[in-house]
Formats: sequence, structure tokens, C-alpha cells
Amino acid sequence: MTETLRAIRGMNDILPEVTSTWRYLESVVRDIVQSYGYSEIRLPLLEYTELFKRSIGAETDIVAKEMYTFPDRNGESLTLRPEATAGMVRAGLSNGLLHNQKQKLWTAGPMFRYEKPQKGRYRQFHQFDVEAIGYDGPDVDAELIIMCARLWQRLGMSQLRLEINSLGAPESRRRYRETLIEYFSGVKNQLDEDSIRRLELNPLRILDSKNPDMQAIVAAAPVMLDFLDDESVEHFAGLKRLLDAAGVDYTVNPRLVRGLDYYSRTVFEWITDALGSQGAVCSGGRYDGLVEKLGGRATPAIGWAMGIERFVALYAACGGVVSPIHADVYIVAVGEGTAERAFAVAEALRDSNPSIRVEMNLGGGSFKAQMKRADKSNAEFALIIGEQELADERIGIKPLRSADEQESVALEELASTLIEKIGK
Ligand code: ATP
Ligand code: MG
Repeated sequence: MTETLRAIRGMNDILPEVTSTWRYLESVVRDIVQSYGYSEIRLPLLEYTELFKRSIGAETDIVAKEMYTFPDRNGESLTLRPEATAGMVRAGLSNGLLHNQKQKLWTAGPMFRYEKPQKGRYRQFHQFDVEAIGYDGPDVDAELIIMCARLWQRLGMSQLRLEINSLGAPESRRRYRETLIEYFSGVKNQLDEDSIRRLELNPLRILDSKNPDMQAIVAAAPVMLDFLDDESVEHFAGLKRLLDAAGVDYTVNPRLVRGLDYYSRTVFEWITDALGSQGAVCSGGRYDGLVEKLGGRATPAIGWAMGIERFVALYAACGGVVSPIHADVYIVAVGEGTAERAFAVAEALRDSNPSIRVEMNLGGGSFKAQMKRADKSNAEFALIIGEQELADERIGIKPLRSADEQESVALEELASTLIEKIGK
């Protein structure tokens, strides 16, 4: 026997029983984001590797260890996108969208990172990504956060808290960085291997360490907020004022840093304790230096990305349920010449009301076998066509979810009768 092929570890099939939930949640996010004036953009899954090296930063975990990188057939190095912001800015520049204009954009789709697969952490995962390019805030920072708060509220999701921080402008972060190197060098013998590697290259990332043994050292480290430049202090205060006025609760977490190099000033994370250790559901921040780093003019920008797998899991943990879509009616046809009639009836119903979901029995079978399938389809009604119905130009309507009697209606009354029963 031929061996069955496996799926790649950490890359999941999203099965029919959950796609309704995915579709529903994606549509709610999309509607909210669009109602704030953000437009969709669709981007390639592949970009030149250089894009991510230059934007995310060579010393980040993503670029150092997690990218799916391979040479194209002509030898150019390509990478499956690990996140969307870099591609978004690249697309803005490639298409002249940032030339004397601002952009409010969203995109969604799969991202790829070679991580250790576990609950809430996969190698192909999905993000909903929102970016405002050309805005220096803090109003837009607040808007992007308030938009998330509205989303949680609309979906009845309560088990989320908001943490915010400011990473300051490059100059103040440089001073902070030096102080951090000094501090961590002083306790170097207590640092783990990852942190030692980050010490010279990317000391802020040590603050993001998930190693429990490092927590005490991290907790005692100097904090960025003490190093902020005046403008960043004012910017951060402005954000807090707007969040306060909007009634959005937050905590300032002075140790919140993000895993990517390009962030500056505002960073934030929506976190839950309901999903175990993979608690970051939506993460965002300001990246005022990125457009310039990728060859554009100095342009402020900010965005967030939500992990759809974690979002879906949290929705379920908060009691959210979306029923799978099923047919309204299932057509059962038994006897000579009834299949042709069944098709005509099905298409006529679809003509009469495009929102009626009509499932046709396929592959024939006895009356009993077809009724069994009708029941399994979860349809509300079976529509029954036998030789008698064929001759009389009538059809049987049998309720499948109640004990009500089967009735027989003339074909020309079928659509109106059903619309009344189904309520469409
Ligand atoms: P984490 O700290 O959990 O690794 P991150 O800081 O790497 O997250 P971002 O790069 O900011 O995450 O991505 C934004 C969001 O995408 C995260 O908040 C999370 O919900 C989701 N996410 C990131 N990596 C994964 C993954 N490997 N599998 C599933 N979701 C992910
Ligand atoms: Mg990560």
C-alpha cells in the first residue's frame, strides 16, 4: 500500500466544522475596520528576503531563526512572509501609494514562521493586519486601539486586557540601549544563552525573554519610560488621555517590547490568560522609521496584527458559538424521470430567492437512503419528488426538525410556501 502523506508539522488544515466560525469572525473584524475608513490591500505571500532582513532586523528571532527562505529558480533569495507590515510598506512604496498621501489599509492571510509548534503557535498561522501610514498620532494610535476594544465588545469577548508602553524616539532609545547593555553586562553570568547573544546586538529583546529564570533580572532592569524624550512623553500622555476619555482600560507595562526592530514610541498588546501561555492575541505599535529604512521618505506609521487562530480560540473560550452553515432544503427524488424535475425545482428555487440554500441528493439511492442523507445534511425540510408528484406537478414538503406532518403543494406554490416557512 502507498504510504499516506502527512501534512507539514505546524501547518494546519482548517476543517469545515470550524470554517463558519473563522468566516464569521473575519467578517466582523473586516466590517469594523472598514467602518473606520481602512481599505483592503492584498499582498503576495513571497517577498525578497532582503525586505524582511532590512525591516524586521537581522538580529530578531524571526529573521535569525524562523524564516522560510529559499532560492528562486534563478537563484534569488525569497522568503515566505513571516508578517505583513514589511510587505505593506513595500507595496505602498512600489505603487506610489505613499507619495504625498496617507494610507489606512488592512490585509489578512497566512504568515509563516519556523517556530516550535504548540497550542496557539504554528508554522503557518493567520493574521488580520491593519496599518495607518503617514499619521504621527497619538490620535491614530488611540483609534487603532479603540477599534479593537469595539471588536471585543461586539463579540462579547471579555477576557482580554490591554498593555501599552512607549519605546521613545531613536535617540532616547539609543541612550536606553546603552544603559541596558551596561546593566545586563553587570549580571552577564546570570544570563541565558539567548540573552547573551542579544546583549550587544539587540538588548531590548532580552526584556521580551520568555525564560522564567530570567524574569528576576529582567524585572530589575532599568525601564524605557525613564529615558523617554520630551516629545515621546507628550505623545504617550496624549494616547493615554484619549484612551481614558474613550473609557478603554489599560495598564502601562514598562517592560513591553516587541519582537521586531522597527518599532518606536507606542507599542501595545491585547493579552488573555484564557489560552495558556500563548496569550498575545493582538499586538501592535508605531514604526516611524520603517518607510525611510525601505527607501521612502521619512513617514510615521502604526499598525496592529491579530493572530486569527488565537482570536478564534479565545472567542470559543468566551462562550462564542457559530453554527456551521447547512442547507435549508434537501431534495429527494425517487423514480423514473424525477431527477430532471428535481434539478428544475432546485434551480427555480434558487432563482426565486438567492439566499435559499438548496442541497440536491446526488448519487441516487432508495427513498430511505436519501431521507437518511437529508437528515444528516441538517436541512430544515426534505422536498420529495416521486413518480406520483412528478405526474401531479406537486411536491412533498417534509419537516425534518419537527414532528409536523408532511404536506403536498403544487409546484407553482413551492417557492412562496417555503419562503414563509424558512423566513427568508
Ligand atoms: P508571540 O510573543 O506570541 O510570539 P509575536 O510578538 O511574535 O507573538 P507578532 O509578530 O507581533 O507576534 O504577531 C502578531 C500576532 O500574531 C500575535 O499577537 C499572535 O496573536 C499572532 N502570532 C504570532 N506568531 C504566531 C504563531 N507562530 N502562531 C500563531 N499565532 C501567532
Ligand atoms: Mg513570536
